[in-house]
Amino acid sequence: MFPAAAQTPLQQVVLPILETKKVEWYVKRLDLIHPLLSGNKYYKLKHTIVHAQNKGAKRLLTFGGAFSNHIYAAAAAAHLAGLEIVGCIRGEVDEPLNPTLRAASEMGMALFPMARSTYRQKSTSWVLEMLRERFGDFYLIPEGGTNGLAILGCQEILSDSDRTFDTVCASIGTGGTLAGILAAAAPKQRVLGFSSLKGQFVLKDFEALLLEHQLEPLGQWEIFTDYHCGGYAKHNATLLKVMRDFNRATGIPLDPIYTGKMVMGILDLLEKDYFPPGSRILMIHSGGLQGIAGFEWRWNQRLYPD
Ligand SMILES: *Cc1c(COP(=O)(O)O)cnc(C)c1O
Repeated sequence: MFPAAAQTPLQQVVLPILETKKVEWYVKRLDLIHPLLSGNKYYKLKHTIVHAQNKGAKRLLTFGGAFSNHIYAAAAAAHLAGLEIVGCIRGEVDEPLNPTLRAASEMGMALFPMARSTYRQKSTSWVLEMLRERFGDFYLIPEGGTNGLAILGCQEILSDSDRTFDTVCASIGTGGTLAGILAAAAPKQRVLGFSSLKGQFVLKDFEALLLEHQLEPLGQWEIFTDYHCGGYAKHNATLLKVMRDFNRATGIPLDPIYTGKMVMGILDLLEKDYFPPGSRILMIHSGGLQGIAGFEWRWNQRLYPD
């Protein structure tokens, strides 16, 4: 069954640096929502799925990379809602399937490999026409799942009591999640976004996203673009050490694409006294843990060896 209400406990992080800096840090565990459909993707997809069903759609179609959390989540959401789904995958779909695509396929997603040149034109009418000819009618979910309904869903991430924190931290891919959080944050809260992508374009894209969806946030916000570790889906030894140390200290698993980089960023900001003493941080753990298996498969090493 499609999970109706999200259970998302808050967990306090206990680390020596937090005592030194007199800062409190809590993690909102969206990663615990549901074994298949968790993290921010639960919120990003819930209204879209209902909308598709209300429109009488039988089949969904979406786009993503071969290790994508969105692909996995979309497959899970369709599976739980009893809908068909086609996943258009950027580049090749090699056998044996990687853990993400294997799980998506087992949940019933039809995988359709797309040449990168075609993939780049996935929003053009000729590509969509080609897909309709091939698969019949479908309800389109954009790459990454960000649309107005996704942003609406992400506005539900913060509960009333979460608005007592002065700072809210979240990861950024397309920025849909951050846009929802920012729209729902209290005016006195500061919302910090940590980009997993390399480049300053993220700032402009995010402003454009707010404009497109007519969101005029009341609170302050800031986006950090220094914690991508070389780019999207890239990692380095520092990142892995941060993730392993954090996991050992808190028991919280982080994913290597998004939440690991955010924790790296928060720790760096703590070191640099970015957070005044007395600050209370709420970090949104947006899930993405399906990516751990993909990481281990791709790089042939355990992420959390002990
Ligand atoms: C997809 C994803 C994000 C990025 O969400 P956007 O709405 O695209 O910014 C962040 N964290 C995790 C774990 C994700 O899977």
